[in-house]
This record gives sequence, C-alpha cells and structure tokens, in this order.
Amino acid sequence: MATLRDDLKSLIGTRSANLLANKMEITTVGELLRHYPRRYSDRGALTEIAGLEQGEHVTVMARVVNANLRRMRSRKGSILEVTITDGTKQLRLAFFNKAQFHAQRLKPGKTGLFAGKVSEYRRVLQLAHPEYELLDDMSASSVDDFVGEIIPVYPAAEGMQSWVIARCVRQVLDMVEIDDDPMPPELLAARGLASLDTALRMIHRPPNLESIDVAKERLKWDEAMAIQLIFAERRMSAVSRPAPACPPVSGGLREAFDERLPFALTDGQREVGADIAADLAKDHPMNRLLQGEVGSGKTVVALRAMAQVIDAGKQAAMLAPTEVLAAQHARSLRDLLGDLGCAGELGAAEGATRVALLTGSMSAKQRRQALLDTASGAAGIVVGTHALIQDTVSFADLGLVVVDEQHRFGVEQRDALRSRGADFTSPHVLVMTATPIPRTVAMTVYGDLEISALRELPAGRSPIKTSVVPAAEKPTWLDRTWERIVEEVRKGHQAYVVCPRIGDEPPATNGEGRPAISVLDMAAELENGPLSELRIGVLHGKLAADEKDAVMRAFAAGKIDVLVATTVIEVGVNVPNATAMVIMDAERFGLSQLHQLRGRVGRGDVPGLCLLVTETLEGTAARERLAAVESTLDGFELSRKDLELRREGDILGAAQSGSRSGLKLLSLLADEDMIADAREAALRIVADDPSLGRHLGLAHLVTDLIDPDRADYLEKT
Ligand code: ADP
Ligand code: MG
Repeated sequence: MATLRDDLKSLIGTRSANLLANKMEITTVGELLRHYPRRYSDRGALTEIAGLEQGEHVTVMARVVNANLRRMRSRKGSILEVTITDGTKQLRLAFFNKAQFHAQRLKPGKTGLFAGKVSEYRRVLQLAHPEYELLDDMSASSVDDFVGEIIPVYPAAEGMQSWVIARCVRQVLDMVEIDDDPMPPELLAARGLASLDTALRMIHRPPNLESIDVAKERLKWDEAMAIQLIFAERRMSAVSRPAPACPPVSGGLREAFDERLPFALTDGQREVGADIAADLAKDHPMNRLLQGEVGSGKTVVALRAMAQVIDAGKQAAMLAPTEVLAAQHARSLRDLLGDLGCAGELGAAEGATRVALLTGSMSAKQRRQALLDTASGAAGIVVGTHALIQDTVSFADLGLVVVDEQHRFGVEQRDALRSRGADFTSPHVLVMTATPIPRTVAMTVYGDLEISALRELPAGRSPIKTSVVPAAEKPTWLDRTWERIVEEVRKGHQAYVVCPRIGDEPPATNGEGRPAISVLDMAAELENGPLSELRIGVLHGKLAADEKDAVMRAFAAGKIDVLVATTVIEVGVNVPNATAMVIMDAERFGLSQLHQLRGRVGRGDVPGLCLLVTETLEGTAARERLAAVESTLDGFELSRKDLELRREGDILGAAQSGSRSGLKLLSLLADEDMIADAREAALRIVADDPSLGRHLGLAHLVTDLIDPDRADYLEKT
C-alpha cells in the first residue's frame, strides 16, 4: 500500500510521473491528491462551445458532425477540417499534420473530449490540432473517469490536459489507502469532519454535489491547521523562554502616573491594561499585539505597561518605524509623564524616571549621554527607531519592548528582540498597530501574538468628515477645497496636503495616464497659487533625518500652516491643531491607508475634515472605493472591504497561487470561524506535544502544505 509521501513513479509509471513532475511540479502521491479540481462539469458540458473565448485553454466534450479531408493548395500535404457540436453550438477543428491519421479516427458520430487553445480563423472560432480522446477508445475505467456524473476539471497546463491528470488521480486512488489520517480522531469527531481518505476520494470523484462540500470542509481544515500549527509552535517557543517577571507594585511610578492622568481610562484601555499587567507579572515573555484605531489611546496603555516594568527595576524600550516618529513618541511620553519623567532635573517628582531618545541625527554629545543613560539604567524608557535593537546599544536591564506600528516590523525583527534581555531572558514584547485588520488576517499575519484591541475612541473625540472632491467633473470644487484650507488656517488651525509621490524621481507613468501628483510640484503650485499667503512646509522620506525632524517640530509648534507630504505622515504623527487634510490623487491609495491618513486630523477638540481629491469618474471602481471611505469611519469595516477588493491572494502573498503551495481552499474572509477554531486546536496540541513528535502526521501536514521555504511569507506581507 502506498502512502501520501510516496513517489508517483512506482504507481503510475515513469512517463506520466515525469510529465506531472515537469509540467506541474507534482512528484508525490500527496501532491497529486492535493491538486484539487478547479471546478466540476456535468456529463458532456465541460466547457460549452457557446461560451468559448479566443485565447482560452479549453476542454470540450462534443460529437463529430462532419470531417473534411482535402489537399492543401499552397503546399504539400492535406488538411483535415472537422466540425464538432455539443448539441447547441458548433466548433471547427483543424489538423495540418497527420491529417490522414486523424481522419481515420474522427468519423462523424464519434464523441470525445477535445482540448486546445481557442483561436480565430476567418472569424470562426477553432481549435488548431487539438489533443483529443474518443470515448470508445477509452478503457472502461477511464470512460468512467471522464463521463461520471460529475467530471472534475483540473487546473491544467499546456501539454498536461485535465483528463490526463484525472486519469493519474484515478489510478492513484485505486492503489492507495490513506489510513494514517494526520488529524486526531477526537478532533474530527467533534466537528463531524470526514476522514482524509474519504475527503480526498470525494473531492476527486464526487458521487454527488453535496459530497464536494463535505470534502472541502475537511481539506480546508488541513490548511487552517497547518498554518496555525506553525504559529502555535512559534508562540510556544517564544513563550517558553524565561522573562523578567514584573508584578505590579504599590506606591510606584505606575500608580503615581495613574493618579495624575487628566482623564479617565476608557473601558477598553482598562481591560487591555489588566491583561498586559497580568502578562508582565509572569516569568515568561508576553507577546501581544495591540490593535487600536488612530487616537484610541494606545500610547497611554503602553506607558502604563512601561511604568510597571520600571517599578520592577527594569527598563522599557519603545521602537518607532521612523526617526520623526521616535522623536514624537519621546515628546509625547515626556508630556504624559510630566514631572514623573524628568529624573535628575529640577522639579522632578519623587520616583521619577527619565526618557532617553536615541536617533542617528543627534549630536555626538547628546547621543553619548543617551547611550550612557541607557547603559546605566538611569533612563527607564529608551525611545528609538528599529535600529535600536540591531545596534550595539546596551541596556542595563531591558524588561519590555514596545513596538509601534507593526506592519513595518517583521518576525525576524521580533526574534532579534528576544535575545536582548539581561541574563539570557527575553524581554516582554508589546506590538501596537493602528491598522485595523480583520480578525483572521490578524490571526494569520500576526499568528504568533496574542491579540488585543481597543475598539472605542476616548470620549470627546471629534468625528472626521470625509468628502470626495471629483476634480475632473467639478473643477470648481477643487478651488473651493483650497479656500477651505485658507479658512481653517485663518481660524488658527493647520492642514496637511498628501500626495502619492515625492517628485524628485523621473515620474513612472506605467503606460497609463499622467504620473501621480508629487509633493514638490504641489508645494510649488500652492505656494504660487491658492495658498500663497500661507506658510507651507514639505515633508517626505528622502529628507535628511534632521531636516525631517525640524519640519515636524515647526509644524507641531504652529510655525508651518500647511504641510505638503507623502505618506510619511501616515503613522503616528500627532498634531492636534491640524484639522484638515487634502489627499491628492486619492484613488492611488489603499482604503486602509486613506483611513490611516485621515486619522491625522480631528485629534483635537475640533471636528476634522478630510477631502479626497480625484480625477476618476463617477461610476468607476476607484470612485466606489473612495465612496466607501467617505461613508464609514469604521476602520475594521474598511479593512474588510479592502481585503475583498484586493482579493485574498495578495494577502497571503504570491506564493499562494503557486502550484506547490498547499493553501488552495481556505479563504481568510469566508472561513474566519474555522481558522479561529483551528488556532485553538493547534495551541492545545502544541502545548501538549511541542515538537509534534507524537503527531507525525501533523508535522508532515505542515511541511507538505506550507513549503518550509515559504512558511515565512505569511508574516512578510
Ligand atoms: P494612539 O496612539 O492610539 O493613536 P494616543 O495614545 O496617542 O492614541 O491618544 C490620542 C490622544 O487621546 C492623546 O492626546 C491622549 O492623551 C488622549 N487620550 C488617551 N486616552 C484617553 C482617554 N481615556 N480619555 C481622553 N483622552 C485620552
Ligand atoms: Mg500613537
């Protein structure tokens, strides 16, 4: 008896096996059986001739109506023209080689399967020298194969027709018996799932349509389980390291900070805070993701966690994706801490700590002081960019790392963090992201983290009003847009103008339409035009770090009225006095990105205004997407829409579409509940058997379905 891991050669012969290997990269029984039908056809209706399109690779089942063999006028030899029908429409076949031979076989009245690429000849669709197989030529079993009630249609390749794959599958199914189901029987029983043997037989040779669903349900489970096992193992190995236990203490910095907070925590902040406090008290590292809308108050949550760690005599580091953000975090942490954050200075409160900022653009003297404070432990909090963990910066005793904006921070970087604690301990890790993502995406993309979310905004936040400005249809609206900006500034507020491109590079036109509006062009245009009376600043990723910082500081201090910028302002920039944002060529941004961007306005007590300028026309898909951003402020809803629009393949990465990838049936949106269920099940299994030594089938499932080389792609997106 063969098993899933066996080589195909001994089962179906070298010729077929080589074909499968060369054309489809399929070499084992498991790979073949997990090459699922793309769809199914009823008898005789593989592809209807009526629906054929030029260029398609098709398989039709049809009857020969007539065959006409004639000499070619221009050159030697004969041509065979055959007309076939599927009962409704006709299709032309043409054979230029071995015409005599084919004429012998393709007699009127014969029925067969014909496959090839649809081309057009004298305005008539045809298949030129198609491959074909006549029904009476087939052995009893292969006829059965193709003319069963429900015919599987496989993803085929040139030279590897669907029916050839079907025949190989059939041969293999006749020979193998899969009695080593990788899934624990209790798990299958509890969910009423089919055995692997049944599921594989049903998906390839379904006795009826319902059985296809039964099969898919089980096979999807395999995929969900394979992904979640990887994450469960990763979580277990991260969590099983030793970490500095930091139980809350009374009379410390954290309590003093809570007492001074000028506002009451939201329920969400309190709950998440309690979870984090409990995590930090353990002697294994916390690995938690904190999701929360822009302005939901993540920074306060993080600072309370840092205070708890400082109370335990450890240090906390905060990492930001850019120097601008690092500097800003340091400022807002110092602001929030007040006299609790200036230890060693005049007027510091008792038990105060110090916040050190470490960036590349500091003077040598400042940097030396910050490094010293970090190494000595004088700084309870050290803020920097991600480089902080790769650098040789040494900490006195690092207990907690807070990472802001996860989507720029990958798993390898998280791993690097784990070696930074003192005495071989791993620091606790709190990752914060303002990008709301649907639950299952979080479970897959950040599968190795516990997930918390802040879903409500602190009371008293002003709503953001979003409007689309259709610049092509209503040019006067654009003039009005700039007038609105002038009005905002006259009221003492500030504004952002966001453009898709910097403008110092040769514009990429990718062949269609004009290049995107650039920051540099826009700034010049506004300065010399509608905003000539305002103070305009420019911010983008290619400015030197100190220039960036200077611009941000000037904007925060109100010395710049309008900041023309790229998406560098997308993450974390917090200037409450900025109340308006104009986004140029808005259709060029993703939905979640637009949502993220507009979160920069309306952070104070004045309602924010976001204007989405676009030249796309009413009724286009692009406009529909912008209308979605206009109509809702719910980031989770938008991220779901974004996912639907971008199609999930993009999320799991291109690897998913490769024929070797095992993730074929699972849908992140449609199978949310199953993925959540699999996550729990995977955790229980791995907790009990971390190396999967007693679950070899599951271990194979992981390596078979998720190519080990590609296991990483899940986090890299
Ligand atoms: P995030 O980092 O999630 O974008 P922040 O922590 O920066 O949000 O908070 C945004 C603003 O809201 C800050 O000015 C902060 O002081 C304030 N804030 C945070 N929590 C509350 C609360 N519970 N009540 C009122 N204001 C709050
Ligand atoms: Mg923030």
